[in-house]
Amino acid sequence: MDKEQIAAIFEEIALLLEVKGDNPFRIRAYRNAARIILGMDENLAKIIREKRLTEYPGIGKDLAEKITILFTRGRLPFYEKLKRSTPKGLLEMMQIHGLGGKRVKAIYEKLKIKSVAALKIACQKGKLSKIPGFSSKTESNILASMQHAASYQRRHYWYEAMEIAEPILKALGKLKGVKKADIAGSLRRKLETIGDLDFLVGAKNPASIMKWFTSQPFVARVLGKGETKASIKLKSGIQADLRIVPEEEYGFALAYFTGSKEHNIRMRERALKRGWSLSEYGLVPKNPRYKTPFAKTDKNISEKDIYKALGLSYIKPELREDKGEFEAAEKNKLPQLIEEKAIRGTFHNHTTATDGRSTLREMVQAAQKLKWEYIGIADHSKSSFQAGGLSEEKLLKQIAEIKRLNASKKFRPYVFSGVECDILASGSLDYSDDILAKLDYVVISIHNALRQDEKKMTRRIIRAIENPYTTMVGHVTGRLLLQREPCKINLNKVIDACIANHKIMELNANPMRLDMDWRYWHAARDKGLMCCINTDAHHTSHLDFFRLGVNIARKGWLEEKDVINTRPLKQMQALLKNMRT
Ligand SMILES: [Zn+2]
Ligand SMILES: [Zn+2]
Repeated sequence: MDKEQIAAIFEEIALLLEVKGDNPFRIRAYRNAARIILGMDENLAKIIREKRLTEYPGIGKDLAEKITILFTRGRLPFYEKLKRSTPKGLLEMMQIHGLGGKRVKAIYEKLKIKSVAALKIACQKGKLSKIPGFSSKTESNILASMQHAASYQRRHYWYEAMEIAEPILKALGKLKGVKKADIAGSLRRKLETIGDLDFLVGAKNPASIMKWFTSQPFVARVLGKGETKASIKLKSGIQADLRIVPEEEYGFALAYFTGSKEHNIRMRERALKRGWSLSEYGLVPKNPRYKTPFAKTDKNISEKDIYKALGLSYIKPELREDKGEFEAAEKNKLPQLIEEKAIRGTFHNHTTATDGRSTLREMVQAAQKLKWEYIGIADHSKSSFQAGGLSEEKLLKQIAEIKRLNASKKFRPYVFSGVECDILASGSLDYSDDILAKLDYVVISIHNALRQDEKKMTRRIIRAIENPYTTMVGHVTGRLLLQREPCKINLNKVIDACIANHKIMELNANPMRLDMDWRYWHAARDKGLMCCINTDAHHTSHLDFFRLGVNIARKGWLEEKDVINTRPLKQMQALLKNMRT
């Protein structure tokens, strides 16, 4: 087992002990240990071999032994026994957002509820609000979480789906007789979450390709198989569909299966106006009088040709959402979408000073590997104590450390001193102005009191935006894709406040956040909102998330000029300074 898996089991043990009402110190010890394990800089195998686990403060003899057993044997009898002795329904209840071990224990003890189904009925009947510490608001929150969970289960994060799809596509492309192969659907459109995978292949003889696709080790179950279509369930849990078409139809099929549905409807309407009928099979005249520009036997008709025939410049897949792309393509005014190579650094990154898992030096070194010109460090502020937020003293120490690092010229990227400053429930910031004045920039974020009503929340964020030391707003809605709904907030008002106060909006590139949502960016950019694509990295490997941020920026119609961290270092330094005066 690796570090991540062991830490996850320790977290689960803490939950299980909580349900049992175990000693709070013991529970905290497991949680602590999980964090320590994740933060270990060294190779775990080496630490275990040299019997040095107990050198980490917080890991005693007993925990060291459990880590060693999990690492070497991949299982832990203590954990398995604990799990067996907990009703399965309670384990499922603990997965519901907003229900930790303590609450599940209370529900179980007071109402004898031990299944998700029974919990739902109890919430609907208002029985939970009778338990001390529970309110009718808790009940409606639990019901909403359950509903979200049901819809979340059927979807997957874009980057996870992409990781699964890419090797399959590559293998498909190499099969005998395959002339063309692509990923279609929402994955190709770079939507933040994906339902299933759509593969498209252009080939004359589908039989052997079908056979390959339905008999690979990644297949858990074949859901359906015809001559040219197959649906499988992958072992990873995702469904994947394959369609094989003759080459003459390939361009049409690719456009059709890429979607979106709304975009395809508009495409068909445009064809109809010209007297043609457009489908996944081709473009044909409704009446022999209306000739199409295509010969039926042409094997090289591309998507570009189809758009051209309909009087449009080529619309890239990420823009195919019927959100203004037709109007722009008609006038040849589609945006010059931002590209990965334009990014010169990011500004929201954590280090081991708070809950990051890589040191300052490691982060800067990783930025150098990406050929960035700069990197901004924004660790947590003091109110985020669960993330080890920095006291004033520690923040000042970090500023000094960064100054020394810049002066040493050891690494090529310049390091900006920032902070991810909590927006307190009232809208004031977590540090006083004289502390904030010592930084190069300030990212403001909400981490607590996430359930304020829309009016309060909107006012709170706008108040924080109005602070003269605020530079940019971090993960504005606080959403966690497939886990937690966004906060209730009037985003248009917040966008207007950012523009009026000359503040920047972050596009948080963490695959679970991708916040602010791409659906808002196009209009916000037109109004003058500036974007900063930030990685919110808690480890050197997370710096690579900037690519996901670029994807979403592209979906939001952003160009290089709209994204602040495409600016060269000198400009960036001047810009941050100007924002302060
Ligand atoms: Zn944050
Ligand atoms: Zn952060």
